[in-house]
Amino acid sequence: MAEINPWGVTDIKDYTRLFDDFGISRFTDMLNQIEKPHLYMRRGIIVGHRGYEDVLRAMIERSPFAVMSGFMPSGKIHLGGKMVMDEIIWHQRMGGDAFACIADMESHSVRGVPWRDCKDIGLNEYIVSLVALGFDVEKGHIYFQSENKRLRDLAFELGTAVNFSEISAIYGFQGDVNIAHMISVLVQNADILQPQLHEYDGPKPAVIPVGVDQDPHIRLTRDIASRMRMFLVEKRLHTDQKPYISIRAKKADSGALEEIARRIDGQKKVYELHMDLFEIEESEIDSAMRKIEEIVRDVEIEYGGYGFFLPAATYHRFVQGLNGGKMSSSVPESYIALTESPEEAAEKVKRAKTGGRVTVEEQQKLGGSPEECTIYELLMAHLIEDDAQVKEIFEECKRGERLCKACKAQAAELMFSFLKRHQEERENAKEVLMKHELYKQWFR
Ligand code: SF4
Repeated sequence: MAEINPWGVTDIKDYTRLFDDFGISRFTDMLNQIEKPHLYMRRGIIVGHRGYEDVLRAMIERSPFAVMSGFMPSGKIHLGGKMVMDEIIWHQRMGGDAFACIADMESHSVRGVPWRDCKDIGLNEYIVSLVALGFDVEKGHIYFQSENKRLRDLAFELGTAVNFSEISAIYGFQGDVNIAHMISVLVQNADILQPQLHEYDGPKPAVIPVGVDQDPHIRLTRDIASRMRMFLVEKRLHTDQKPYISIRAKKADSGALEEIARRIDGQKKVYELHMDLFEIEESEIDSAMRKIEEIVRDVEIEYGGYGFFLPAATYHRFVQGLNGGKMSSSVPESYIALTESPEEAAEKVKRAKTGGRVTVEEQQKLGGSPEECTIYELLMAHLIEDDAQVKEIFEECKRGERLCKACKAQAAELMFSFLKRHQEERENAKEVLMKHELYKQWFR
């Protein structure tokens, strides 16, 4: 089985195994339901999802949903981080309540980054670029984990639903892992569930755009969200194969179950700790489930519960390093930072590994391998908006009509312009943040 671990070595070449081994769903299966999909969706950069159906339904029905993701401030913001930012911003524009977290508690406990550097990197690398890329600070929420008491209280509470062995098994923690690192896992679980607290208008579908290596966090948080629920609502089958709905109290007092029974019409049997609902037409079972879940959630909140939806996630694939290997923050040649000089970045692009042949003649005769080319990846994922143009580059390369030198020059020029514009936008972003009631304190 392929292993995925947020802090371990990640080199997952065979994405199809992810679907089989981990139950991640293919994103392409829902693409045609999205009105104007982001280019990461259209171009297969977002490879999979977990539970995105609820978010999509909310988007279509224009009902509340949230988007959240986090950034660990331990190095420069590079194109990998930009992908997460783009996804948050896209969902915000689609109507989502957007949350961006600076995971300084994680950075401090896992990487040993001093608090002062966490603040500096978090603000000047990540937050400024996020706003420059289009995050709406008036509608969304940006926070540092360490400054967020509500988040830390929630993390503590979530800790009641997970034990040491479980966390150790998921993350491969040994006895020498510091306790703060373990706590930072709970804080990240809390990051993911925070948009559903009543301070943010209560439970709602929420999507977490992340790299596929973050799936263990998502799975754990979904488990915890489910364990924090007072009730479990399930669709079941009778022996005669007729469907019915069962509501089981997991940790609620019986008054709550009675209250649910009072609010639900139709034929039902109420027991001490559960209730079964019958005579629901098979064609109506899904909409009945949604209505019942809503009632159960309302009662749960009235009785002091959280009523969490299981958080959803979209998973994008890994971005190759410019030198062909893994992108690594300790190897500056492997990545482009959004804050580096456009001139230097353009030079890096010109030195990047391509999928071209050894000689021009061979390239013209046999064609190149854009699917293995970091230049093509830059053009496709970051630099060209027009799908037809990207397709043409791919085909020209395959036919040997495109040569790497000119192709690199084009990518270098586009990268130069993108970074120049982005860095101008960063200056505007700083002004926006400095004028903002909540965020101006970070600049003092
Ligand atoms: S022509 Fe462009 S896309 Fe094709 S291999 Fe060379 S650099 Fe890559």
